Amino acid sequence: MAILPILVAPHPVLKKKCTPVEAVDGHIRRVLDDMLETMYDAPGIGLAAPQIGLPKRMLVVDCAGRGESPQPMKIINPEIIAASDDLASYEEGCLSFPEQYADVKRPARVTVKYLDETGTEQMLDADGLLATCIQHEIDHLDGVVFVDHISSLKRGMIMRKLQKLMRGKPRPDVAAE
Ligand code: ZN
Repeated sequence: MAILPILVAPHPVLKKKCTPVEAVDGHIRRVLDDMLETMYDAPGIGLAAPQIGLPKRMLVVDCAGRGESPQPMKIINPEIIAASDDLASYEEGCLSFPEQYADVKRPARVTVKYLDETGTEQMLDADGLLATCIQHEIDHLDGVVFVDHISSLKRGMIMRKLQKLMRGKPRPDVAAE
């Protein structure tokens, strides 16, 4: 397993619409393992493939609470097939926006269809933090980031703060595929 560099916004790969994973093979499983290790190391609760420079429709999450045993999930080609009308607001952050946070409203519950790491179709009913986290990560697969859900004024502030924070820091240079 390996810890991979995480792309920081703005980066063109973070704006890309990702393509479906065609075959869930050993290579894909290795990348998902690396993504989980990278996410835990960061630390974060979710990571989507474009954040490591790979524009493929897959992501990892682990929304286990403090003191709970880990609940790693590897999610391939996810599709939201149902979303509740009622919304929930969470203060979101993103590994591609270090140290930046904003309240984002999303459906409180979603049903997601996806392939697991064996290529088997799974169905997940998510609520609470997991629902928010999965929607945030699925957004990444469509080139959408959490600041796209907030006002342009707040977004501008976050981008300026991020630019200041990253000034002088080496940026991971990951080639787009
Ligand atoms: Zn994110």
